[in-house]
Amino acid sequence: MYCSGTVVGDPGQVLAVALQAYIAIEPTGRVIGWNPAAENTFGYRRGEACGRDLADLIIPARLRDAHRAGLVRLAAGGPARVLGQALSLVAVHQDGHEFPIDLMLTATDESCGTVFHAFVTDTTVSRRVSRYAAVESAVNRGLAEAGTYAAAAGRVVEALGVHMDWPVAELWLADTERRLITCIARHTAPGLRLGAFAFTELEPGVGLPGTVYQQSRPRWIPDLVADRTSPRSRIAAAIGLHVAVGVPVHGGGHTQGALCVYGNRAEHPEETLITLLSGIAAQVGQYLERRRAEELDIELARTKDEFLALVTHELRNPLAVITATTALFDEEIGTLDDDGQRKLVHTIAGSSQRLTVLVDDLLDLARLESGHLALHPTHTDLGHIIRDAAQDLTGPLAGKGLTLILHVPDPLPLYADPDRLRQVADNLLSNAVKYTPDGGTITVTAAIDAVHEEITWTVTDTGIGIPAGERHRMFRRFYRASSAIDRRIPGTGLGLVITRAIVEGHHGSITLGDQIGPGTTFRLRLPVKAPLAGS
Ligand code: ADP
Repeated sequence: MYCSGTVVGDPGQVLAVALQAYIAIEPTGRVIGWNPAAENTFGYRRGEACGRDLADLIIPARLRDAHRAGLVRLAAGGPARVLGQALSLVAVHQDGHEFPIDLMLTATDESCGTVFHAFVTDTTVSRRVSRYAAVESAVNRGLAEAGTYAAAAGRVVEALGVHMDWPVAELWLADTERRLITCIARHTAPGLRLGAFAFTELEPGVGLPGTVYQQSRPRWIPDLVADRTSPRSRIAAAIGLHVAVGVPVHGGGHTQGALCVYGNRAEHPEETLITLLSGIAAQVGQYLERRRAEELDIELARTKDEFLALVTHELRNPLAVITATTALFDEEIGTLDDDGQRKLVHTIAGSSQRLTVLVDDLLDLARLESGHLALHPTHTDLGHIIRDAAQDLTGPLAGKGLTLILHVPDPLPLYADPDRLRQVADNLLSNAVKYTPDGGTITVTAAIDAVHEEITWTVTDTGIGIPAGERHRMFRRFYRASSAIDRRIPGTGLGLVITRAIVEGHHGSITLGDQIGPGTTFRLRLPVKAPLAGS
């Protein structure tokens, strides 16, 4: 560097303090110059680099032949256009990780022959910044434009896969009812065959998505081959994936899922990458919350309509029957014999009973909504509760010619509220009776799972079933399946909501089985000993 004709620095010294990596090579590729910045950039000391073939040092194995052929052409006098131009290339560090570089090449004729001088800048950070900006804006756009959850999730993983070059990007969300996490969107690089890696469901704690979700903190697996914590890592390694990063997705005050990406290059655990992914996961969490709030609004409007419909129908009908029957009674009291009078009284009692059940259910629903559905746990016997409930249905079962099969051990002890469990048994059994046509079969099984210290309880019938497309709505207030409405079977759509609240109040779960063909199965899990909410 010169100033007013005065030499202010010797080129050797300038290169020694330069921030840019400098490498000199002979036309054969042999390294003859290597400054301290090159040591920092590529990891080799000057003494280790000088004398070796540049391709072996810093060019990824798959690109070495092309690099050597290029050098031969350059040494032979062309193509001269690569001289003096910034070339964007991929280099490899001594520790094996690849990174992007910009390389400027010049040549000088020295007494020993042509020497090529390469000035190299590691562009990892600058590229990362622009890729992060691209991925963030793609995610923003995707979440703003997508009309459905699935489309929004698809846009997020696509943005990560495409802009960040991750061969696999996945968004997992919790399915709390089934105690699983499910992959709701996955981006896969073209040509990559996932095979057994393409799980769509995992248990919390299993695999990278499962552990990130369960522990609610980011996790970096630097080498999937060496990872012993999950069989899924070995499957990932077998299809050429090398590293994996996952971050939790939070929303509504708790962990909702995990955002995971898998790479096929060795990469350093990078704080900024975790920060980027966490930022995107936060956007996804906010999006989920927003959508949930919108859905709740719609649900509220729908519930109001359905409540009005219920009140007009389910309250009015029995009231009309009571009014009409009382009027009839009044008119014909002098002419009716005992039997006739008894029939009218039964009709009035039946309608009052319907109203009582409805009012009880509505009161339970109100308590449920205000969080005051009280549970009074004690040491009790579920076997006894189920048998008692079945006993009370002897009349309706016989009336429809239904067969009831009970596989329920005696006793089946647990710590729970017996009255509330009786309500659950009554609701599931009376539904099975109500929705099973004459001559069908109802099967109730219950057993203790000693490993998990819980009772599994199923109620299966051979009845009208619930259409597959409506199953996810069955535990909503006032929801009635089209199979019930089409057959004009009376009901309120309240029993299952209350049943679920009771089961969950006991820290259990109730799900609808995937039934193929006619019939319905409800599956319940109840902890034998778990402390009750509010107890
Ligand atoms: P209700 O039976 O009073 O309508 P529930 O909340 O108990 O209310 O049930 C909600 C809906 O679920 C019912 O309307 C019916 O469509 C469906 N359902 C419940 N149990 C069964 C069953 N065993 N078979 C078929 N459909 C059922």
